[in-house]
Amino acid sequence: MANFYCKCCGIKYTSVSSLTSGSCSKNPEGKKHALYEGSEKSKYVCKFCGIKYTSLSSLCSGSCSKNPTTKKHSPAL
Ligand SMILES: [Zn+2]
Ligand SMILES: [Zn+2]
Repeated sequence: MANFYCKCCGIKYTSVSSLTSGSCSKNPEGKKHALYEGSEKSKYVCKFCGIKYTSLSSLCSGSCSKNPTTKKHSPAL
């Protein structure tokens, strides 16, 4: 079964519809989870600073000095 992740908080869902209907406390642009459109990987890279994490949830929870808007790491696709 495919897994879908929120690019803002890293939470995992098994369907896109349940992901996008769930509320997200970390999405600066809205109140819902936003789909991470990249593929599932063993490592996720922050698109602002290039740091690598092994899970999206730990990437998203770290603060990033190079992200001008949210100050949080944000995954590259
Ligand atoms: Zn989320
Ligand atoms: Zn970063």
